[in-house]
Amino acid sequence: MNQNQQLFAAAQKHIPGGVNSPVRAFGSVGGTPRFFKKGEGAYVWDADDQRYIDYVGSWGPLILGHTHPKVLEAVIQAAKNGMSFGAPTAAEVELADLICEMLPSIEQVRLVSSGTEATMSAIRLARGFTGRDKLVKFEGCYHGHADSLLVKAGSGLLTFGNPSSAGVPASVAADTLVLPYNDVAALEALFAEMGDKIAAIIVEPIAGNMNMVQASPEFVQAMRKLTEKYGAVLIYDEVMTGFRVDLHCTQGLHGVKPDLTCLGKVVGGGMPLAAFGGRSDIMSKLAPLGPVYQAGTLSGNPVAVAAGLATLKLISEDGFFNQLSIQTKKLCDGLIQIAKETNTVFSAQSTGGMFGFYFSENIPQSFADVMNSDRSKFNAFFHGMLEQGIYLAPSAFEAGFVSAAHSDQDILFTLAAAKKVFMQIK
Ligand SMILES: *Cc1c(COP(=O)(O)O)cnc(C)c1O
Repeated sequence: MNQNQQLFAAAQKHIPGGVNSPVRAFGSVGGTPRFFKKGEGAYVWDADDQRYIDYVGSWGPLILGHTHPKVLEAVIQAAKNGMSFGAPTAAEVELADLICEMLPSIEQVRLVSSGTEATMSAIRLARGFTGRDKLVKFEGCYHGHADSLLVKAGSGLLTFGNPSSAGVPASVAADTLVLPYNDVAALEALFAEMGDKIAAIIVEPIAGNMNMVQASPEFVQAMRKLTEKYGAVLIYDEVMTGFRVDLHCTQGLHGVKPDLTCLGKVVGGGMPLAAFGGRSDIMSKLAPLGPVYQAGTLSGNPVAVAAGLATLKLISEDGFFNQLSIQTKKLCDGLIQIAKETNTVFSAQSTGGMFGFYFSENIPQSFADVMNSDRSKFNAFFHGMLEQGIYLAPSAFEAGFVSAAHSDQDILFTLAAAKKVFMQIK
């Protein structure tokens, strides 16, 4: 057994499935998960000292690559001054100001420790604000693992074939209404039927937990218009897309102002930090100002805030997203080209530093489309690439990420590997 295999065997003794988050276990692709011991720039090294070009980036946060010197420095300085106070600090005020400046839809923001907390709190707030219970979500969208959101959610749950989770009371799930993504007619029909009972729509405005699926302009407009008309709250879950697809997130690209926005991943620069914010008339319903309770011992943790602040400042530099978008597009265009040369049924797309590729003729528009792609081909491709030293997300239901540390050479190396693997798996 190699080190990865030994560690995975040992891990299963005291950790359920050997992992602390399910998709890490390689359940859908098979094989042994890699245990990482070091990351630097675009690379990670596993327990057997094998190097990989990393297109997962801790599932999105590491937009600057691993151990960026300036982020590292900020974290070390903050830690030296104290790991946690459970009391306000100046740095969290600075981060809140910066988030509100970057996202005009956010007038007030609260910091939390995970994306799950952000979405769970935003939903409680929307329900408290509207005095309504029903929640609309879309098939294949994942919004963290709070009970009311574990209904037809993406990634880990798709990977394991559970449309939902055990342990979620039917009474809780009953208030979650699930519609197909990008289906304007279904959305209109639902609001016509019970619009006055709907507290909120929560949506991944670019879905990244059923691979990558873009919301159509008509769908985006319909969500904004219907929530306005019926007095429901529009929640953009930008935990994945926030500061990843654009400096002003998906809402900047859509030209839409959601009522509430959830952030996570990039906003914490690799540390446990997330946020939710939006209209101040809604946010002022939160305790201690209002009746909706929400709290956290480690919320606004100074070390995590330092990583987030350093990251947001670096991605705000002139031309950052332009360069990142070009680099990501080079990867996608290259893959499409190689697929043509090798007669592989394939499509790919990217926005900013986020990409999706599919073993299907066309780019998927919905969960059903994603399910129709060739997933056994994905698994073969994944393992072929892993052998070539390329680390992709171990599931056909995940988006991929390019960081600012991925050089032209890294992209060319990846494309050369992909060409070999496309020929192998034909
Ligand atoms: C990752 C993710 C979450 C959950 O965030 P955690 O930090 O894993 O709890 C919620 N929504 C979306 C869109 C995500 O991608």
